[in-house]
Amino acid sequence: MLYIVFPSILIILLFIYRLQKRRVSKEIQSQIRSDKVNRLSSQLHFPAKQNEHSIKIQQIKYNIENACVVNYNTNKDQEFNYKITEKVPFKEFNARLYQYIDSADKLQEILQNLYRYNVLGIDLENHHLNSYNGFLCLIQITTPNYETYLIDCLKLREDVKTYLGAIFESSNTLKVFHGCVNSDIAWLQRDFGFATVNVFDTQEAYKKLFKGQRVSLLHLWQTYCKDRVKITKDQKNQFQQADWSARPLTKEMLDYAAHDSHYLIYIALRLQQNFENQNKLQELDEVCKEVNEKTVNAKYALRQDQFKPDETYKVQFRKIVDGFDPNNEEFLKIEFIFKGIYNLRENIAEQVDKNPDELCDISTLYLLSTKKPLSYIETRKVLDEAGKQTNSIFRQVIENFCIEIQQRLDDFPKNMDAMIQHYKSQPNQGLNSQQERLRLKEERKKKIIKHYSCKKVVYENCKMFSPDGELLSNCDFKKAQWYIERELADQISSDPFTIKLRFEPNGRGQPKPLEELYDDNFYVTDRENKCVNCGSEKDYSRFHVIPTLYRQSFPDELKSHRSHDVVLLCFTCHEKASREQDNLKKQLAEKYNIPLNDHNPNKLINLHIQQINRVASTLKKASFRLPDEKRATLQKNLIELFLEKKEQLLPLIPDDLKGVIETEEINNEFIMFCYNLPPTRLSNKDKQNPHGKILVDKILGEDRMSDFIKLWRTHFIKTMEPKFLPWGWSVDHTIERSFGVFSKFARKEDEQENHK
Ligand SMILES: [Zn+2]
Repeated sequence: MLYIVFPSILIILLFIYRLQKRRVSKEIQSQIRSDKVNRLSSQLHFPAKQNEHSIKIQQIKYNIENACVVNYNTNKDQEFNYKITEKVPFKEFNARLYQYIDSADKLQEILQNLYRYNVLGIDLENHHLNSYNGFLCLIQITTPNYETYLIDCLKLREDVKTYLGAIFESSNTLKVFHGCVNSDIAWLQRDFGFATVNVFDTQEAYKKLFKGQRVSLLHLWQTYCKDRVKITKDQKNQFQQADWSARPLTKEMLDYAAHDSHYLIYIALRLQQNFENQNKLQELDEVCKEVNEKTVNAKYALRQDQFKPDETYKVQFRKIVDGFDPNNEEFLKIEFIFKGIYNLRENIAEQVDKNPDELCDISTLYLLSTKKPLSYIETRKVLDEAGKQTNSIFRQVIENFCIEIQQRLDDFPKNMDAMIQHYKSQPNQGLNSQQERLRLKEERKKKIIKHYSCKKVVYENCKMFSPDGELLSNCDFKKAQWYIERELADQISSDPFTIKLRFEPNGRGQPKPLEELYDDNFYVTDRENKCVNCGSEKDYSRFHVIPTLYRQSFPDELKSHRSHDVVLLCFTCHEKASREQDNLKKQLAEKYNIPLNDHNPNKLINLHIQQINRVASTLKKASFRLPDEKRATLQKNLIELFLEKKEQLLPLIPDDLKGVIETEEINNEFIMFCYNLPPTRLSNKDKQNPHGKILVDKILGEDRMSDFIKLWRTHFIKTMEPKFLPWGWSVDHTIERSFGVFSKFARKEDEQENHK
């Protein structure tokens, strides 16, 4: 009895003890946690404060909800008319055309005017620096008569909400934006609860028209307004980053803001004309429908909701980390700390209502993760040494970062194993962009190897016997099968697959010179499926010791028996051997004065077309990023390329683009034409390099084929020093074998070689 009771009591006691311990440790844990929170808030030397213009989070949520309800109830299945019927001739921007609207009276006054039009050009300026979620500062609206209104959203937020909603949500007014789905439309939701519909997006329309990438508004100005827009790329970047919540706005900023909406309707019309000229109005309608489907389904994502403590930091970390190695403990520690202070930065930014990047940038976070300063003084020293600027708010929270770094250092040991496991399960996660590129390169190489290497064993080493039982040769299974199917041979064994011919092959039984008898041995020896150079049994492919370029032009009797001169090489050895062959080709070309360069006019024209494709590709892909000068040079290049070979190339240009060559005014249609210009078709004869045939004919004329073949074999042996050549392989191997002139045999082998 005692034996049973005693252990039971012990177990119960242990259980109570553990329960007690868990309770205590939980208390301690929550104590630690609240300590940490206290430390954090006590060290924030200022109360969390909102930007006076920021919108309260509850208000934002309410606005988004409102917009979504409107979208769901009324906009979801609405059809809109995206066609612009107004005539809007080009009109250059000038400052007298815009008005600054900063009172409710003025706003109501212009409202009457805005309602008169079926189409308006609209742009917005958002502030995102000193605000966690950002807010709109300015709405620019341009009418088809080029009247532009700059509406001050800071002063008139409530009035905008009251009066302008009817325009943004109206299905009668087409709103022309440039690239709006994830920005403008979302911001209008966030700040005013507008469910914007009936939108024409010039960025999307352009993208559809030229099947290209998204382009900047600057690019459209340059395309459609020529040199009439005076804003440069640098200025545009500078203004985009400017603080639009400042008041009063400078004259330059107002000018810039007015520019942004000034040309929108004109550009939309030009795009519409382009679609019309190409008979593609249907496509324009489709792209507008797509955009509007997106705006109707758009929902502004609060920064708080987008932020994922275990995920968001990763993207930034990968971008900045150099040579990340998941097997290196120090790297793991840096990532662990980075995650901690990245999330702390987000937390503080929300409390002090700032854009996290404004509080401190990613490179500063990374610097702190690597240097791990644990005090205010140390941190300032680290930052000063790296030449990092800090702002006053960041300086006030430096100690919070130090505490976090200390905490992460303490916590790292018990987290390290989990991180190692994580990277083991996802080997590519630890790579930064450069390593990622290398990895992709490696993957591409693997694909190439896979594509070119032999898919199955090359030498099946089947045996072929003569009727009287002499081993004639090794052959592959297909060839053995061929004889059996035609009842020319019988199978006499299956392992190795062996056949016996029913007929006497030509040339047998005649007396042979000794060396030829020796060579016959080569064909009855089993050949191994591995690189003859290094012995690797992986990724091998056939290598022609005598280059195809020449062999193509060999007389048939020399072509027929060449299995001696086809060896297996692995990918690496294959690359090296090909390079070595190229060297000898060049030497021969020089020695015999037969150029390797192919001057076939059809091939040359294709090289030319390739160049045209390349220039057009640059213009198409990077046009808006190119400096004006560079673009002009490239465009000039394009014209010159056509003029250089005008007899062949000008006829290829479609009639409606022919004018471009004369006026030298390159438009996007022309660039797309150049980009898609296909190479001319080459005949089989075109494809052959004449160098091979001329040289072989010359050698044949001198009756030195034997030397020529030996030259290549020697070259292979000397440059590669192969260690795994099959037994019997020799530089002096007979060039022409009597056995080989047996016609069926020869033809069959030839066919097979061609299939491989
Ligand atoms: Zn090799």
